[in-house]
Amino acid sequence: MELDLGHSGGRETFSFKEEFPVRGPEEEDVPCRASVTVESTRTGSSYLLEGEIEAAVRLECSRCLKAFDFKIITEFSLVLQRGRGMPDTIEEEDFILLSEAQEYDFDIFPVVREAILIEMPIKYLCAESCMGICPGCGADLNEGACGCGEETGDPRWDSLKKLLKEEEEK
Ligand SMILES: [Zn+2]
Ligand SMILES: [Zn+2]
Repeated sequence: MELDLGHSGGRETFSFKEEFPVRGPEEEDVPCRASVTVESTRTGSSYLLEGEIEAAVRLECSRCLKAFDFKIITEFSLVLQRGRGMPDTIEEEDFILLSEAQEYDFDIFPVVREAILIEMPIKYLCAESCMGICPGCGADLNEGACGCGEETGDPRWDSLKKLLKEEEEK
């Protein structure tokens, strides 16, 4: 994702569509498709880069084990400056100083990947309401109840069921 800043005028837009692996919280690589738009605004020897990212990360639901696309929409901005020091109005983490000798091509990919990683979910769920699979027969409970009966149902409901039964018997 090279930005050719040397030939860019006052304002320029760069667009990228790329697929690359990103590291998930379980230290595994997962595929990510991203569309990135970066707008560069040049003022003298500094460039303000404002980026928009739309990405889909292919994950496997930890409850039902089905693959699904996790959508990420995020933004970033940073300032590149050639030669001189940092202006004091800018926070350090969003500022990159380029040396005089450095090429004008700037690879935005590490910034994009970082912005995506921040948005990655801690838990992979296809939906908050995902029912998961039956521990008894392995059926996908999102597609309806399986034939296992109540015995192998979600143990979290057991105390409630007991309570209802007691209520009935009164
Ligand atoms: Zn699921
Ligand atoms: Zn079952």
